Amino acid sequence: MEGVTLEFPRLIAQLVMVATTRLRSAGVDTPRLDAEMLLCFVIAAERTFLIAHPDACVDEPQRTRFESLVRRRCEREPLPYLTGSQPFLDFSVTVAPGVLIPRPETELLVEVALSCLPPNRHPVLVVDVGVGSGAVTIGVARGRSDVRVAAIDCSEAALCIAADNVSRLDLRERVDLFCGDLLSAAPRKWLGSVDLVVSNPPYVPTALLRELPPEVGFYEPRIALDGGSDGLDVVRRLALQAMAWLRPTGALVVEIGEGQGPAVREVLANAGYIEPVIRLDYAGIDRIAFAIKPDLSR
Ligand code: GLN
Repeated sequence: MEGVTLEFPRLIAQLVMVATTRLRSAGVDTPRLDAEMLLCFVIAAERTFLIAHPDACVDEPQRTRFESLVRRRCEREPLPYLTGSQPFLDFSVTVAPGVLIPRPETELLVEVALSCLPPNRHPVLVVDVGVGSGAVTIGVARGRSDVRVAAIDCSEAALCIAADNVSRLDLRERVDLFCGDLLSAAPRKWLGSVDLVVSNPPYVPTALLRELPPEVGFYEPRIALDGGSDGLDVVRRLALQAMAWLRPTGALVVEIGEGQGPAVREVLANAGYIEPVIRLDYAGIDRIAFAIKPDLSR
């Protein structure tokens, strides 16, 4: 049948090529990688399999499924929503529309949070505000076996996904999930004795939301992104509330965005914290702010 080209062929190498071309014209940043990841997902194989078996055939249902996922990715639906999971640190979390997809930069939030924990206090009490998929809570709980986490979110949908991740990673004993606004839902008996409040709050200035890539702006939950006019609405409220929940010398560790370091340092200092510090991510962008509640008894 000369002149007739199958829209979506059956051989792995050709499938990847056709999908890559389509994804590239749809403006996807990493078209080949995404094509390969989607195909791996559909045929339940590792990427090395695609390279080792370019002539392998996929069956008809797999081909149809792949084509439909490529079409959705061309609409710029985020890859992790299509495959349903996202790697983070040394584990993966289930994700779905309704939770923010954990970013690699957020691994630094976990690293800094763990470095702020006291060496020997049993148990170490941590509150994660805005748990989302549970990535940060799980990262902190896996990093220290003496940690108990109260993980809070105002979205029931997010809490369902977080609960699923916490159970799958076997942390139900040490992680409790609560629904509420910021720290309002933390366990009352922890008031004044929390070692660490950690949060990846919404911090994108409202006016910048429309400049986000379509993957983020159209598909990820606005409530997890919109930080008000300067992006710092939630950090401001959180800094004040955390002061009451932390024990003296307890730490507040929050993720922030580009250029927000100086303003956040001021927010934290005004709220009464000592030693506010900003850590840059590997791209050199202000990413983590941390500060200590003073010990006024000393
Ligand atoms: N890092 C995210 C983004 O810019 C924002 C996440 C957040 O507001 N917590 O896409």
